[in-house]
Amino acid sequence: MLSNLAVRDVETLVHPYTNLATFREQGPLVIERGEGIYVYDTAGKPYIEGLAGLWCTSLGFANAELVEAAREQMAKLPFSQIFAGRSHDPAIALGEKLKEIAPAAISKVFFCSSGSEANDTQVKLVWYMNNALGRPAKKKIISRIKAYHGVTIASASLTGLTANHADFDLPIANILHTACPHHYRFAEAGESEEAFATRLAAELEEMILREGPETVAAFIAEPVMGAGGVIVPPRTYFPKIQAVLERYDVMMIADEVICGFGRLGTLFGSTALDIRPDSISVAKALSSAYLPIGAVMIPERMYQAMLDESRKIGTFGHGYTYSGHPVAAAVALKTLEIYERDDIVGHAARVAVPFQRRLKALAEHPLIGEARGMGLVGALEIVADKASKAPYPTAKGVGARCTALALEEGLIVRNLGDSVALCPPLIITEAQVDDMFDRLTRALDGTRDWIAA
Ligand code: PLP
Repeated sequence: MLSNLAVRDVETLVHPYTNLATFREQGPLVIERGEGIYVYDTAGKPYIEGLAGLWCTSLGFANAELVEAAREQMAKLPFSQIFAGRSHDPAIALGEKLKEIAPAAISKVFFCSSGSEANDTQVKLVWYMNNALGRPAKKKIISRIKAYHGVTIASASLTGLTANHADFDLPIANILHTACPHHYRFAEAGESEEAFATRLAAELEEMILREGPETVAAFIAEPVMGAGGVIVPPRTYFPKIQAVLERYDVMMIADEVICGFGRLGTLFGSTALDIRPDSISVAKALSSAYLPIGAVMIPERMYQAMLDESRKIGTFGHGYTYSGHPVAAAVALKTLEIYERDDIVGHAARVAVPFQRRLKALAEHPLIGEARGMGLVGALEIVADKASKAPYPTAKGVGARCTALALEEGLIVRNLGDSVALCPPLIITEAQVDDMFDRLTRALDGTRDWIAA
């Protein structure tokens, strides 16, 4: 029996990333409010938000300081553009703060409202820069199979998941995909993590040589892949990839949309995985998702090329109405202040120890083929047979069953196929980590019983 709100929803909304056919029968879980790491449905039932919304509400829900920062800025100046010679304090101060904390030598910051827009902007900036530098052939951008970089035309093209390509005539030209660094799934028999990383770097080099280095402009990567299944690469993967990129003057773009701001126990994921990015995308935890805001952090070389080009043609023809939105910028600034003042990253690193211990212990569960993660993000991959790593048939919907049972236990997690992903707010305590894994273990046991029945 669907509630009144659920019926109105089904009659009204097209939901993102939803099987619209099954959704019509099941309807949504309508969430009414949140506090700390919990959200509450319309019947008042609490749930641990084990995915921090969509990998984003790092400071949890109902943070009074963020609410106040938004209220104050909204009352003072709810909107002003940073187009056409205008600017305002929140955008300037946030830009300065991002430059100060960036994990690379950043010259300038460009604002947008989402991760997709940030990565779309990355593509356009790379193309714009190479046009300005008089090398218009250097346009190809290499992403990876299973990467997630967003859903706008260019960012969906960077994404390496078939669901984002097949029915949309994507990817667009000049976007290529190289191998995914998931050792458990893609290593050859007996291949060590080190040898696997060496092979993937060699495959990338072959791709660059095959395409012609004069046509390859950039490589984009999430430090730890998120929506592709929480894929933690081998330790030496990025240094080996980075060496190849440097040989052929290919830029490294770090997509820090999930990993940025403490998720891996370091302020940026690039630091944790030895990435030396030229350019960086951020969004999500930049404002703890209280308001939509994203940013691209740009190196001096790119800025200089843009400056020269705009001297020639008069304008840099890219930007959004909401670029640098003052209320979103004020909330982001307050978010960064809280991260620093309350040592949220240090807290995340400390709680990550019991989090990873409980996560990895579930590798012993009869359903789990691999338990993987880093910092406060992880995934459990359900398999039909541990030895062969064979999955259950997709149609059986084992991952979806597990997340549905978790919901009954009062835990929100997300299944990516048959991998169950966890990414709680960074403010989670050790006791809450235990509670979360107790609930998840009961959901896994229930899934095992459902399969056996
Ligand atoms: N990049 C990464 C790594 C992401 O995880 C996401 C979203 O999940 C995006 C980009 C796209 O961000 P948005 O959904 O805000 O457009």
